[in-house]
Amino acid sequence: MRIRIEKHLATVQRPANLRINDQIRRFREICRRNGCLRPYHHFAFGQSPFPAPPAVVEALRRHADQRDYLPTAGLPALREAVAEFYRTTFGIERSPGDVVVGPGSKELLAILLAILDGPVIIPTPAWVSYLPQARILQKEVVPLRLQSQDGFRLTPSSLEDVLSRLSAAQKILILNHPNNPTGITYTRTELDALAEVCRRHGVIVIADEIYALTAFNGDGFASMGAAYPEGTVVTGGLSKDRSCGGWRLGVGILPQGSEDLMENLLKVAGSTYSCVAAPIQHAALIAYSDHPGVSDHMEACRRVNAAVGRVATDLFARLPEVETSTPEGGFYVFVDFSAYRERLEAIGLDSCAAFTEHLLQVEHAAILPAEALLLPSKEFAARCSFVDYDGAVALERWREAPPVSPKEEAAFVRANCPLVEDGVAAIDRYLGQLRRGERPLHYDSRIPGGER
Ligand code: PMP
Repeated sequence: MRIRIEKHLATVQRPANLRINDQIRRFREICRRNGCLRPYHHFAFGQSPFPAPPAVVEALRRHADQRDYLPTAGLPALREAVAEFYRTTFGIERSPGDVVVGPGSKELLAILLAILDGPVIIPTPAWVSYLPQARILQKEVVPLRLQSQDGFRLTPSSLEDVLSRLSAAQKILILNHPNNPTGITYTRTELDALAEVCRRHGVIVIADEIYALTAFNGDGFASMGAAYPEGTVVTGGLSKDRSCGGWRLGVGILPQGSEDLMENLLKVAGSTYSCVAAPIQHAALIAYSDHPGVSDHMEACRRVNAAVGRVATDLFARLPEVETSTPEGGFYVFVDFSAYRERLEAIGLDSCAAFTEHLLQVEHAAILPAEALLLPSKEFAARCSFVDYDGAVALERWREAPPVSPKEEAAFVRANCPLVEDGVAAIDRYLGQLRRGERPLHYDSRIPGGER
């Protein structure tokens, strides 16, 4: 039987990061069979490397027998804890009734796009999933190119410029910081200026702040939910700063008194996933409460990630003829290889995806190409994550002897996150061959796949 699929889905691709994960798994198997021991450097992955906070794991264990369906919006005590957390941590004044709990913030983002009227402005480079979500939902997408000379920040004038060309009564802006893929954050002053533009143009902001507490400067994170309270939905969750991505719990903080939005959100949520798994919600209650074990754990993870981020960015920035963003949080640095465009095209690699695929095959280094970040395929730039290490070991070493200078941080990363330095060295080797006018060869051309 021929199964017919909705035509618009032909424009949607499987997320590139998940595709690369599968590819690496397959390549590892081929290498194993061929006796190749060289590791893969996985700069295309965005999962926290750290263990879950032990008190949260213990709470999950204690609540394993919770089997009832819970209210669609979430366990009342959890909504209360989340509202209190956002009030005390980011100065977002909302009541528990403005909080919704969902199976990951990704699902909440999709539901928000499904129910909010108007075109979606997506600043680019952007996280891999916004565009596919918008396409699945057949929303109008307005990409807004961020410039390196602005530090990859959305400026009030570029926002104003795009908005003045849109006639819809309401526009949706996705504002993500700490940003995936550039790692940049906005100050409260910058957010206030953007809020002023949004206010004048009837913009509803979806503030994707899933990386909020990974901000390298600790308590310096400013939320759009506080700068533009009447028009911002903030999304966050357990995945990044609390290291529990696979548990699938996200939160949404709606503008105060937006009953109609909440009602419609619950309509869709109740008709699709009913509620988030009960034991996970009980564990999340500990993750969002003022538990010293949890905050200490998160703080230590934040410090390790910040140090690795600084060192990794420095290593990437020292690659010849390469430019990088300046991350201030998150798990990623955006790396621009466009100075190599002609040399790549000369050896037949005429798109960024072709370049990153070749780099993966010959140097075992995986990076996420421009095409996955809502950029044109001729733009040779990529997202490089710096989370490919054993976070449990790194955390333990950090607690024993935290590095106190840039030099000690570099030594810490060399000792505890060896694939980071080794991976950048692999990319350096590849680029060196390009600079010599050579086609990069597999480091060991006995391995099949190397010379493709
Ligand atoms: N937004 C961004 C920018 C992300 O990087 C991710 C996770 N990769 C998410 C949202 C989704 O997170 P989750 O669904 O796990 O809450």
